[in-house]
Amino acid sequence: SVPSEELVLEATNLVAGYLPGINILNGCNISAHKGELVGIIGPNGSGKSTLLKSLFGLVDIRDGSVALNGEDVTKSKTTELVRKGVGFVPQTNNVFQTLSIEENLQMGLFLNPKRFASRVAEIWDLFPMLADRRKQLAGSLSGGERQSVAMARALMTEPSVLLLDEPSAGLSPVRQDETFIRTRQINQTGVTIVMVEQNARRCLQICDRAYVLDQGTNAHQGTGREL
Ligand code: ATP
Ligand code: MG
Repeated sequence: SVPSEELVLEATNLVAGYLPGINILNGCNISAHKGELVGIIGPNGSGKSTLLKSLFGLVDIRDGSVALNGEDVTKSKTTELVRKGVGFVPQTNNVFQTLSIEENLQMGLFLNPKRFASRVAEIWDLFPMLADRRKQLAGSLSGGERQSVAMARALMTEPSVLLLDEPSAGLSPVRQDETFIRTRQINQTGVTIVMVEQNARRCLQICDRAYVLDQGTNAHQGTGREL
């Protein structure tokens, strides 16, 4: 899809942190246009996950603002953000090991059975390797397969914005490529994606545009060619 000029997500001068008096983000700016795949790179501890979590209502925002489709959502709770179309896959995946793949997709959702069935069918099309094993316990999957379950689950609510924290972490090169291709596929269905990625080179190849974080502030921003 060709990214449009329409701003879906815009965080301006974000100051945020966990503990009182300690700010992890010190004036972060990030935006995503409709249909864009935006990357976030930077060294360990630079605040990439904190930035993503702050866009999902999981970190205390002390200054600055977050706008979603032009609406101020700075103080919104995660449940409201999900209702407004934001999906999130954390760095440490939140898959329930004692539930089956299928049960994991249903977990915590209030979809009626008909809606669930039609949505889950769409998800199986994107993740055929999970479809064949839908009754298998998530605890018996590999790390990469579990990461797929986490991404599939985030897609159940049909987000218009998807926040991915290192979806390829811990995967072999082939599995990493598959993950990037699937991320692009999801993006091409019209989902705006913000993705944190450890591998800067790959990230810049895949994303339309990327931000470089350094100690909680943006160092650079641009396309792969520009960076
Ligand atoms: P990595 O590449 O290792 O995932 P990151 O760029 O995602 O790193 P963050 O996880 O955002 O970095 O962490 C940034 C800083 O915030 C670190 O110094 C970390 O110790 C601190 N931090 C993260 N989570 C918490 C928390 N729950 N409570 C207090 N401090 C935290
Ligand atoms: Mg992180």
